[in-house]
Amino acid sequence: MTLMLDMYIDGTRVPSRSGERFDVVNPATGQVYASVPKGGVEDVDLAVAAARRALEGEWRRVAAPDRAAMLGRLARLLESRIDEFAAAETAHNGKTLFDADFDMHGTVACFDYYAGAATKYLGSTIPGPADYLLYTRREPVGVCGLIVPWNFPLAIAAWKIAPALAAGCTVIVKPASETPVTALMLADLVEEAGFPAGVFNVVSGPGSVAGNHLVVHPGVDKISVTGETTTGQTIMRTAADTLKRITLELGGKSPNLVFADADITQAVDGSLFLIYANSGQVCDARSRIFVQDAAYDEFVARFVEQAKKIHVGDPTDPDNHYGAITSSRQLEKIEYYVEIGQKEGATLACGGARVGEGPGLFYAPTAFTGVDNSMRIAREEIFGPVACIGRFSDYDDGITKANDTPFGLAATVWTADLTTGHRAAHDIRAGGVWINTSEFLFNESPFGGMKASGFGRELSMHGMDAYTELKTVGVSLGAHMPTFPLD
Ligand code: NAD
Repeated sequence: MTLMLDMYIDGTRVPSRSGERFDVVNPATGQVYASVPKGGVEDVDLAVAAARRALEGEWRRVAAPDRAAMLGRLARLLESRIDEFAAAETAHNGKTLFDADFDMHGTVACFDYYAGAATKYLGSTIPGPADYLLYTRREPVGVCGLIVPWNFPLAIAAWKIAPALAAGCTVIVKPASETPVTALMLADLVEEAGFPAGVFNVVSGPGSVAGNHLVVHPGVDKISVTGETTTGQTIMRTAADTLKRITLELGGKSPNLVFADADITQAVDGSLFLIYANSGQVCDARSRIFVQDAAYDEFVARFVEQAKKIHVGDPTDPDNHYGAITSSRQLEKIEYYVEIGQKEGATLACGGARVGEGPGLFYAPTAFTGVDNSMRIAREEIFGPVACIGRFSDYDDGITKANDTPFGLAATVWTADLTTGHRAAHDIRAGGVWINTSEFLFNESPFGGMKASGFGRELSMHGMDAYTELKTVGVSLGAHMPTFPLD
């Protein structure tokens, strides 16, 4: 049976003004899973009006401890329904239930983190001239358009929603068209947690219409988008007209450097996870693996042997390590790049084909070896389970190759020598560098990119910066006031 969901605007469930809807397909089965409204310009107008009324009305007077309490209640409500949300995440995204459950626990923790942050994000007193009180206030940036991708639908939405609400902003969430279900479901919990009408709104609809209208709308103060670099470029250009504040979390082509002194078993196990987890549909997937010459053959042999053992298929089967590619458009993009890699002369060492005969969108763990960093498969984001493995000779060559990319989201370094690890952390231009570990993201530490991977940071207390304006207040405590020397 198809799940029917409506949007959430001004505290009410509503269809789109046009009455149009669109289907959400389960990529593991090919079946229609849900039907949601196709929100457009008029729907965004209504949501922005509601968000602005709330911002300038009741919500403005809700104190930080009360916002914290609401976010805490939201965390508990989501926690009590984790299984239902994880099942929905799997059904529209195709990720395994294990991964969806992991994401939902992270989402609960994100709401908890920002419930705490609401009362701990401080202004400062400034040691200025005598007889002056100078201090700063952190004020909500205003109405925020939160534009979300399909690879971690609710988790990434929460990275934006939680700090925005903690800071006292109001929000309009625009989920990706492939995966709008969990954001729409969240509205019930937000309401139950006690947020006033208009503070939280969700408009489902195409990025080029609903998303674009959020970006051009003069009633929206801030856009935070996670998506492709080209989407970020378009949004940055469009947002200039209204001088919106923007946070851009964009694409990546992250390097993974394996030095010859590394524990090769650990490096292989970690590297497999870093490219194949979530079927490689991860912005900071370590898709460019560079192995130092002396370890190259051993690493490649073991990597390929282990990659072939990865189970791909039905995401509800706990034996599978990753599930479906989220859309047929994305699967075709992966196939396109695998063809290009072969034409460019890289060696297809494993994978390179769909898995199964059915309608499910499954793709085998794929590895190219002998990859030169100038190849398109090493320069452009594929966003699938495709590892590109090449070589480096010495430290400088490794760092040069790691940095020779338009992107700068993340990097990993495997080495027994921590001096090498820390040097590389200094020398690699990326928002995050991880040493001898496959990556976990923590709500407590900032995440974001350099270069074409965008700017601004999410998570941690830095995540609050994106949703506040810094105001300076100066008060005379009897200080002489500068004036014109008039008679
Ligand atoms: P996408 O760029 O196609 O879409 C992202 C969102 O933007 C969707 O909600 C979409 O509807 C909307 N959108 C598209 N065009 C728009 C426009 N002109 N105006 C306003 N909104 C618009 O990205 P995707 O395919 O959903 O996600 C995959 C991409 O996201 C990859 O490039 C990946 O690297 C990136 N990503 C980055 C991070 C990060 O933190 N840096 C995290 C996850 C994903």
